[in-house]
Amino acid sequence: MIDRRTLLKAGLATAPLAGISFAEAPQPDVPWQRRIRRLGQLNMTEHDPISLNVEEWADYWASLKIDAVLVSVTGILAFYQTKVPFHRKGKYLGDRDFFGECCAAAKKRGLRVIARMSPDLNWEDAVQAHPEWFQRNAQGEAVRHGEDPRLFRTCMFSTYMTDYMPAIMREINSLYDVDGLFTNAWPPLGSLPVCYCDQCRRLPRPGTPAFWDKFNDRVMYLWKLYDGIAKEKKPSNFYFANLGGGIRSGPNLKLLGEVCEWFQCDNQGRGGDLTPIWGCALQGRVCAAVQQGKMATNVTAAWSTGTPRWRNVFKSPQEAQMWMNETLASGMVPYWHFIGGEKGMGEDRRWLEAGRQYFVWTAKHDRHFVNRRSIANIGVVMGQRAHLFYTPPRGATMSQFIDGMYYALVEGRFLFDFIHEDNLAPENLKKYAAVLLPNTALLSDEQCRQLRAYVDAGGSLLGTFETSLYSERNERRADFGLADVFGIRKAGDVIGTTGNGYYARIEKRHPILEGFTNTNWLPGAEYRLPVAPVDGPVLTVVPGFVAYPPELSYPVESRTDEPAVVLREKGKSRLAWFPGDIERTLWRSGHTDLSRLLQNAIRWVSGGSQPVTVAGDGVAEVFAWETEPGFAVHVLNYTNPAMHKGWIREFYPIGPQKVRMRLPAGMRVTRVELLRAAADTPFRIAGGALEFTIARVADYEVAAVYCA
Ligand SMILES: [Zn+2]
Repeated sequence: MIDRRTLLKAGLATAPLAGISFAEAPQPDVPWQRRIRRLGQLNMTEHDPISLNVEEWADYWASLKIDAVLVSVTGILAFYQTKVPFHRKGKYLGDRDFFGECCAAAKKRGLRVIARMSPDLNWEDAVQAHPEWFQRNAQGEAVRHGEDPRLFRTCMFSTYMTDYMPAIMREINSLYDVDGLFTNAWPPLGSLPVCYCDQCRRLPRPGTPAFWDKFNDRVMYLWKLYDGIAKEKKPSNFYFANLGGGIRSGPNLKLLGEVCEWFQCDNQGRGGDLTPIWGCALQGRVCAAVQQGKMATNVTAAWSTGTPRWRNVFKSPQEAQMWMNETLASGMVPYWHFIGGEKGMGEDRRWLEAGRQYFVWTAKHDRHFVNRRSIANIGVVMGQRAHLFYTPPRGATMSQFIDGMYYALVEGRFLFDFIHEDNLAPENLKKYAAVLLPNTALLSDEQCRQLRAYVDAGGSLLGTFETSLYSERNERRADFGLADVFGIRKAGDVIGTTGNGYYARIEKRHPILEGFTNTNWLPGAEYRLPVAPVDGPVLTVVPGFVAYPPELSYPVESRTDEPAVVLREKGKSRLAWFPGDIERTLWRSGHTDLSRLLQNAIRWVSGGSQPVTVAGDGVAEVFAWETEPGFAVHVLNYTNPAMHKGWIREFYPIGPQKVRMRLPAGMRVTRVELLRAAADTPFRIAGGALEFTIARVADYEVAAVYCA
């Protein structure tokens, strides 16, 4: 048996096969939190001190082989005998030390305890005594909570965060054997706070990049303050907070990733609205982009997410299970969560066994879920600033751009990572055959320079619509910041539609048009930003016209020289520019041609070869990771009538999936185990690649590849 270090020394592990090479083995002194594989939380209610059986609660979590539990201290209602002024004790607490009892019961079973606090709300007596702690509306009134008007919203720029919360944290440290401090409901998830209190009136206007700078300064300051307090207890303790919000996240995730030991996503599930099933996998990609291998968890609500919510009844078990599948597949640690623990752990107890079965299964396979790095050859720039500050055309949202691109990537079964726009340095991009820019409207001069350098070094790009038209401060440029890289020039302002979208006329054959026969036209998009004519265009714009009346539904001008795509080859680099909001229009219209065109273009820019392919019927999202035993290929089966809306209520199995994976030279595969099927599968090596078939995927399969 040859280990990886020997291979590295022999120069065998750094094989010239694109996309796969071995990193150094991790250091043995891994902090405890990075070894956590399962988490649980019963979110305690005011009533629980007289109804929850603490021993039963601890037994349940221990039976799930949980490594740590989050236990409520709060800040809104105290679950212990606090002496901190305005930390109101719950009316059923009496003289009990409920937090202390839970903490002791968990410790007795070998579970770590994270003290959970909520700094977001407090009561009217606190408003009277400390008016400066609270958010104010434009009229100067303290802002009440939308659901329970007895509560008021606190301001994160106030001394509530530097006096009141630290007092609670230090009190907890002084009384209990806790392993970490956690705040719920701060920092804000997907939007930035708007407050007119005296402190906030001195800040830049809310919702602007200048405000965001101050907001990020404050988040970093408080994060470090709380982390310091956590470490006063034990050096191995630390602070973390609930994050999430996907790409549209409040704090600058690149900055946060530098201080954040544990990225805890409060992305609990989808509801009845039009939310695609991949919401959790997308969140995992965001975490992977900024955590650089550090801990990330996502909490799955066993309770009913959606509109309206039912916090205290179980949701569809299949939906909850898919959310946990995605958590694992995207490299996060699963975390099971329910609200309120009446006797027997709730009026609805169906969630208990569902969580137990899933977690006990994961516990058998932990080493296959500890990832060293992702095997992906495509990077997708997240554009966090575009998601926060850019104003898309009427009726459009930035999430439509990301959902459309994601849809095409899933349908094409591409292996991809997200990249934060502040992480575009050459060393971060060199592993990617292509980088995609889905309407990454805000890019700084420096970020444009980094992308230019990537292309000069042989990298390929695909960009759409208003990518690089704005600076990082949301200031509009006269022309695209990446105009020279893509060989484009802005030739007008955004054009919308009065019925039909515009069309794209096929001018000549090209690999991005594979599969399109017997048509001169393809759908264009809803909006476009015209660019100047280029030599030998592949697709040109047929301007839109009315859809009704049909008498007038024909082009006044059937041929123009305005490009509908600009394709360029420069050395090894391939560049594709779509002037339309093509990925967003794919999302809006569902048009299969747009997905095919995008997939073809992604295949073309990335050089047509993928490190791992999974071929078979159905819609499936694929992840591949390097692990300690070798590799893990994850297949998530999204083939389901509830893929775009509502909840999964049943699984629709897909048939044989043929997996082909390029192997680094010198690697010997000893075994391929299907972790959900609980069976080995035969494999063969052909042309330096591993080949095997997954006969059937109900909801999820993980092929664990053992290497010697
Ligand atoms: Zn304020």
